[in-house]
Parts: sequence; structure tokens; C-alpha cells
Amino acid sequence: MNKIKLILLPINVLDATLRKFKEYGKKSLEAFAIWVGKEKNTNFIIKDVWIPTQYNTILSYYVPDIDVHKINVELNKKNYSAIAQLHTHPENAFHSCIDDNYSILTLPGSFSIVVPDFGNISIRDSLNKMVVYRLINKEWVLQSKIKVNKLFKIIE
Ligand SMILES: [Zn+2]
Repeated sequence: MNKIKLILLPINVLDATLRKFKEYGKKSLEAFAIWVGKEKNTNFIIKDVWIPTQYNTILSYYVPDIDVHKINVELNKKNYSAIAQLHTHPENAFHSCIDDNYSILTLPGSFSIVVPDFGNISIRDSLNKMVVYRLINKEWVLQSKIKVNKLFKIIE
């Protein structure tokens, strides 16, 4: 994923992601999702949001190993890659120690996105509200808003 410079994010995928997050949020639960799609040269086209089997609390989520395995099987089957993992926080968005150490995506250059307020954010400025990290040299590095706005392009 290191060479990806532009990620095309369909608005319906973004909308579906936030709606799912809000469903969990109504029950005061964090939630986890991944954005999957296809690489094309230095572009990545997001095709779908996947919500794997997960166990959630107000402060955490957990995806069992078997379900992580299922994600990889499904990615292979569809010839997709996972570009980003996303999860919600009850309030502020940041990457906690647990988030750093317990990541489902492990490919260099992939993204980890933290969504504040259980996903109760407007679609229009959602990318500015989310906090985006990229896996660089085995560390999740916070990406500036300017970078995020260059990297992600919302499409109809
Ligand atoms: Zn977290």
C-alpha cells in the first residue's frame, strides 16, 4: 500500500460506514470496519465497507482471529485489498496504545482511521473530523489534515 497516493472514496461507502457506526453508537458501543477495493497503479478505488464479526464495548472492539482469517479469505476471493481499518471512539478520536498494538491491517502504507463521537459526524466534513494514521516503518503515523485531503477524494 506504500505506493498509493490517491484513494477514491465513494460517498455511499462513507455513508454506509457512518450509518453502521451510529447503530453501534446508539448502544454506546465502539465499532470496527474496513474499507476494501482495488489498487490501480498509485490509485486505490474503495469498493465496499466490510463490518466483520466483532465483540464491542464502550471503549473497545475485538475481532476474533478466525474472523480476521475470514476477511483475508474473502479479500483473496474477490481479488480485493484492504486499504483502511476504521473504528469509533465515544468522544475524541486518537490512536490509543491498544489501537497501535492491536491492528488488523499490517501492510506497510495502509491506513487506520479513528472516528469520533461514535460516528455522529456530518458526511460533508467527515474526513476533517476523522483522525487518519498511516503505517510507515511499522508505526502508525498521524497524517495532517492537508495530507488527508490530498490522499482521499470523495466521489459520487
Ligand atoms: Zn481506539
